[in-house]
Parts: sequence; structure tokens; C-alpha cells
Amino acid sequence: MPIRITSEEAPEAGPSRRSVPARSSPELDGEDDMIEEEGWTKETFENRSISKSTHSAIPQLRTTMDKLKEVISRIEEGLEIVKETAIALEDSQQDEPAIDEVENSFFKALDQRELLTMKIGVLEDIINQLRAGEEYSNIESSYEQLSIPRETEYLGKSKRAKYKNSKEYADFRSALWEVNHSTACPPVSQWLEKGPDDESDDDDFDVGGVTQNYRCPITLVLFEDATTSNKCGHNYSGEAIRDLVDSARKSRRPAKCPVTGCSAVLDKTDLKANPALQKRADEFARREKRREDEREEGDDTIAIEDDEEDY
Ligand SMILES: [Zn+2]
Repeated sequence: MPIRITSEEAPEAGPSRRSVPARSSPELDGEDDMIEEEGWTKETFENRSISKSTHSAIPQLRTTMDKLKEVISRIEEGLEIVKETAIALEDSQQDEPAIDEVENSFFKALDQRELLTMKIGVLEDIINQLRAGEEYSNIESSYEQLSIPRETEYLGKSKRAKYKNSKEYADFRSALWEVNHSTACPPVSQWLEKGPDDESDDDDFDVGGVTQNYRCPITLVLFEDATTSNKCGHNYSGEAIRDLVDSARKSRRPAKCPVTGCSAVLDKTDLKANPALQKRADEFARREKRREDEREEGDDTIAIEDDEEDY
């Protein structure tokens, strides 16, 4: 908080106005507003007894949950941006040292999201208990009793334990890997140092680097208007998948996801444009083109256009 010397606080400086107490300074009010925007105020959680019949208790808890969910979606947007920054660094120089810092930001964002998810879980538990007739004589301390052990447990985990099975981290690592490698990305544990408690779970399932495929499973060429199914997570070119859903509907068949082995039945409302994926597909095409050009420069033969990225 900025320290501000005003005439009110310096009685020598002015003749009259000295009655405003520092407590109600505008800075303090401003700060309260900021905290409120995050959906987490003392007022939401003032010490008081609440039960199912307490006026607005459940709606208020719900509002808080919704605000936390909004924060989570902002964090997820941030994760995308951090990933893109790392990709750009890796593209400028393989294993660029600053990538470590960017990766740390990525971890921090994952942690924040996890902690918020826990808070939401605790609020959900409290709401369910209220509905079941439970009364909380001190909602704030009940909340803390429920949430602090969960948070402490999570924060005490090693990086490897926290992120080894994280889909986002696997995606982060694969995206970085493919900038300078054409082989499959190794399992992510290779980037996650082992903590003291990790010995025993060495053989656990480890999310392998998934090689992202930028070809639409329907058109078999690189994505155009990359679109993701919320049901199964598979990706397609936008027009191709919408056509598929339309023609299935016309012939009264279920619109099955065209990815081999996937049994999801899709509706148009399950489809969402995925500009971040499209951007990566475009970058992939650009890098492929650059590699090709480099190869051709080494050759004396006439370059034969291989324009698979021009679809
Ligand atoms: Zn699918």
C-alpha cells in the first residue's frame, strides 16, 4: 500500500481539516473492493452460525463458488499463454534457459487452479451438509478445518507427484518437444525431479508425451478451424466434423466420433472451436516448411513443391 502523507495526517501543514481518521482512507476501501472481486471476502465468510434456513446462506456460497470458477477459467487462459511463450522460446533456441522460468509459472498456475478446485470442493461439501440439515456454528473455522488439510497435503507433494499425471503438463512438454524433435516425446517424468517420497511410485502410470497429431481424422490433412469435442476431447477440422454430424442426423444415425476406438456420440453443442490448437497446427506447418526449406538448400536439385501444409 502506498504511503500517503496528506494534510489530514500532518496537522502542521493545514489549518483546519484533521478529523478524517486514517482507517477510512480511500486506499483501504479500494483494497477491499479488489479482494471482493476475487470472490473471497471476510464478509462472505464472517463468523456466524448458518444452517439451511439461514437467509441466503446457500446462494451466497454458490456465488462464491461461481466466482472461483471464473478465476479458474482465467487461470486456464493463462496456462495457454504461458505454453505459447515457452514454445516461442524453444523455437528461438533449443532448450532456451528462460524456459525454466516459464515452466515455473506454468507450475504455479497449475497449483493455483488445484487449490481453487479444492476450495470449490469444500464449499460443495458444506452446501451438501447444509442441505442435509447440518448447522455450522462457525462457518469460517469449519471451512478452514475442511480445507487446510487438503491444501497442506497438496502443497507438500513433490513436483513429480503433483504434475506427473497432469494432462496439461504432458501437453506443455509435448508441445515444446515437437518444436525441435520429430520423434515421440518421452514420458514427462524425465523433466520432474524426484522428491523424497517418490521412490515407491516409480513404476506408476506416467503420462507419456503424446505426439500431437495436427491432421483432421476426417479430412486427413492439417486442421482448418480446429475444433474439439467436449465429450471425448478429440479434435477435427470444424467444417468436416459439423458436416459429419449433420449428415448423421439426416440419415438418423448417431453421429459417432470418427476417431478409431472412440465411441462418443456427438452433437453440435459438444463441438467447440479450439483456436489455440489451430495456432499450434499453423506453427507446426510453418516449422515443417522451414525444415523442408533447409533441407532443400543443402540440395542442388530443383525444389519440388511439397505443399501438404497448404491445405
Ligand atoms: Zn472421440
